[in-house]
Amino acid sequence: MTYPYVQAANDYGPRKGPVRAFLVHMAEGGGTVGFLSRHNPRGVSVHYVIEYSGRIVQMLAESHASGSLNPNAIRTDDGPEPYGASVAKAVMGSWWHDPNSAVISVELEGFEQKGPNIDQRNSLASLVADVRSRYPQMGLLGHRDFTNEKQCPGPYIPWPKLGGHGPYHPVPAPSYRIRIDPRATVRAYVLKRPKTGSTYCIESWTDTVWGPVGSSAAASAPVHRFTCDGSSAALTTLVTSGTYKGQHLRVGHGVTLEEN
Ligand SMILES: [Zn+2]
Repeated sequence: MTYPYVQAANDYGPRKGPVRAFLVHMAEGGGTVGFLSRHNPRGVSVHYVIEYSGRIVQMLAESHASGSLNPNAIRTDDGPEPYGASVAKAVMGSWWHDPNSAVISVELEGFEQKGPNIDQRNSLASLVADVRSRYPQMGLLGHRDFTNEKQCPGPYIPWPKLGGHGPYHPVPAPSYRIRIDPRATVRAYVLKRPKTGSTYCIESWTDTVWGPVGSSAAASAPVHRFTCDGSSAALTTLVTSGTYKGQHLRVGHGVTLEEN
């Protein structure tokens, strides 16, 4: 993805370290891009800003270091949950003492006691996913993991939506089941051998007829379980509009998909 770019005034040049974490701040106000495009007293800069509108603005190349943490006042204790030095060390390793060299940073306009709005939350999730596509092992941290001077970014960052605060743990592949309404007279496709790691979650099926309504056959096989690596949205797209071996799975005609 590319984003509108406004150069930050404080560019610390090529980063010395690897990208170990994606670091979240709340800006405690708005007008952030303008503020950071000018020299500011504490030499602050970040790679990205997410404005109130949800617009993402890039301000530094990811290959350069930002200045958004004070390396001379790094905390050594923990709390309040989920923040603290223990998780910062777990993510940063030996770069814990020089975190600006090993993070990609974002400022969200708004206040730590209110948190990001829905547009900003969605943009944050897409930005994290985009950055993670380049740094798959990066953890997720907040300013509070490194300081006792501020509460930033506060309690309202949607960490689970982003992949969880702290070291990166791959999200388990979602699991789905197909439910065939026993009241429906449909030809029930029997799912076989889900194909993982593919946009096609359904490898093949037969079109055994389970009906008619109320028959023992229909009652005995209304649910088939399968898993795939796709999201439920992708799966729904597949089964409602996609074709595979020339067949459609007609969700909505007595056939539904449910996440386990
Ligand atoms: Zn902060």
